[in-house]
Amino acid sequence: MTFTTRFAPSPTGPLHLGHAYSALLAWDMAQVAGGRFLLRIEDIDTSRARPQWEAQIYDDLAWLGITWEMPVVRQSDLMPRYRQALEGLWKKGLLYPCTCNRRDILAALSAPQESAVHYGPDGPIYPGICRTVPHPDAEMPRDKALRLNVNLAHQDNVKYSENGCCAGYIIVTNLSEKIGDVVLARTDMGTSYHLSVVLDDAAMGVTDVVRGADLAEATMIHVLLQNLLGLPTPRYHHHRLIRDDAGKRLAKRDDARSLAKYRAEGATPEDIRAMVGLPPAKP
Ligand code: GLU
Repeated sequence: MTFTTRFAPSPTGPLHLGHAYSALLAWDMAQVAGGRFLLRIEDIDTSRARPQWEAQIYDDLAWLGITWEMPVVRQSDLMPRYRQALEGLWKKGLLYPCTCNRRDILAALSAPQESAVHYGPDGPIYPGICRTVPHPDAEMPRDKALRLNVNLAHQDNVKYSENGCCAGYIIVTNLSEKIGDVVLARTDMGTSYHLSVVLDDAAMGVTDVVRGADLAEATMIHVLLQNLLGLPTPRYHHHRLIRDDAGKRLAKRDDARSLAKYRAEGATPEDIRAMVGLPPAKP
């Protein structure tokens, strides 16, 4: 199978050195493998995504010497794909509507009878306040967040894996403690990062995901979803994070480290490579 990787930025701020490292590493790996490099704009959070940042992404990547296959995939164009997958999981009874906000969750977790709070990839593990088993014929609500009942999903996952139907590996760890009932559709988005990323990687034929170690934990959720949805599991390469002088991971708000700023100050793409510890580009 042709090595196929992707860079999947969210257009919610300027790309910084950490993005440059991720994109260049994936690009280099694709070059070495004689493979494909795809670009996906993760713009499902419409409250934060801005066309100006999307334009800046194209500009920065081209400046770094990266080329990508056209057309660029944009998640905001793919809502029907996400809804269809949600409907499938809903019909299996694996999702339930949730009306809790952050404050409800924290209040429930701080109740005296609660034991220690566990944290998963999305924050505190959801204590199950709204957990129900929906009636199989009930219609999937469109105006509420939908959570995955992870214990039911886990049983389903093991069943599928035993049947030998799915390529992913069996997850035997305690998922209810490690990830909890994750949100698969946010009220404001109608989908979630986890669901969209899994569906799109599969649809784009991605064989190798190259991304930061900050997303390594989320991979548990992604593999579970791949098994539930009958999708292949790509190889995951989680790379080290680029940190500032104080050792803190760079964030979108760190404008000081934005590629645009380095460019404006006269840095070259080779300087950026050297800054993130990558060898010079192959001629
Ligand atoms: N859109 C995500 C981000 O900008 C990356 C998602 C991924 O590579 O899986 O952090």
